[in-house]
Amino acid sequence: MIENETKKDLKNLTLSELTEEFLALGEKKFRAKQVYEWIHQKLVDDVDAMTNLSGAFREQLKNNYTMTHLEIEDLQISKEDGTRKYLFRLADGNYVESVLMRYKYGNSVCISSQVGCRMGCKFCASTLDGLARNLASAEMLDQIYQITKDTGERVSHVVVMGTGEPMDNYDNLLKFIHMLTNEDGLHLSQRDVTVSTCGIVPRMRQLADEKLQITLALSLHAPTDEKRKALMPIANSYSLEELMDACRYYFKQTGRRLTFEYSLVKGKNDGKEEAAELIRLIKGMNCHVNLIPVNPVKECGMEETDRGDVISFQKELEKAHIQATIRREMGRDIDGACGQLRRRHSQNSDSRGTLK
Ligand code: SAH
Repeated sequence: MIENETKKDLKNLTLSELTEEFLALGEKKFRAKQVYEWIHQKLVDDVDAMTNLSGAFREQLKNNYTMTHLEIEDLQISKEDGTRKYLFRLADGNYVESVLMRYKYGNSVCISSQVGCRMGCKFCASTLDGLARNLASAEMLDQIYQITKDTGERVSHVVVMGTGEPMDNYDNLLKFIHMLTNEDGLHLSQRDVTVSTCGIVPRMRQLADEKLQITLALSLHAPTDEKRKALMPIANSYSLEELMDACRYYFKQTGRRLTFEYSLVKGKNDGKEEAAELIRLIKGMNCHVNLIPVNPVKECGMEETDRGDVISFQKELEKAHIQATIRREMGRDIDGACGQLRRRHSQNSDSRGTLK
């Protein structure tokens, strides 16, 4: 299949890239729009399903291009709330996870942006085996496309909060956002897309300058540099001061309110002292705090904050007029922490010696 590596992936081309390709092949410009619609609106995976193209042109497409298609390897469905957790197999045999959550306002899909992650956060399962590779824009899109096809329901919100650090795969992320929100594709509103980052400051500033209307969520998790360094290695590269400046810059450029994610870990960041420090850090910013009781991962040895302490922490913030919500725990009955389904799967495969 070495041949394939030199072939372009049809699903990974923007409409203007596709137009350029087809003009070079001597085809009419409108063919690009037709093919783009088949792929990004009708969500077909098979060139032969593109029935308004001539047989000869379909053959040409099949010979000259590939087309990403994620296979559902495993699916877990919550009996409590219908949350669906997908394990997808990529063309090269790697796996990624995505989750569909059903809310009153619509269906939200949480996608992965990389295979694995190299950020090393101390509570996170996705980073335990390091980074395998970046996902292409098409592979991010296809998580949403396959879930749409599997459920027959429209996806209205997308959060880039699965495995991987989206700012570590910046160019592909940006192309993905454009293709997802473009009127020639699924046409989601930018406001219904959220990107979560551990805080790569130069990329946050670069994203701010794009002036998109997406929501930026920052994984804050601690209110001082020292405490943040104990949980997140990225804190050794960027101080909280630089990080908060980048957040203010994001707001200045886009007018979009920021979300701070704060995973509560027993005894590490969840006391009265930390609540007070957090208030000092973010007071006056246009923001919203999302409190997430840490999802314990065996290998990480972090304990979940007691429910009462989660509520006390929230109350402290509210007293200081900082809006704070406790993340609703969707699919608790199926929900291993992020990245656990993939890990479990690859470990099982290793011991069976069949896959990988
Ligand atoms: N790399 C990005 C996005 C992926 S993780 C980021 O760091 O933001 C999505 C969110 O889940 C992040 O806030 C992350 O810190 C958090 N998270 C990861 N593992 C967790 C766990 N076991 N319990 C609670 N939150 C976790």
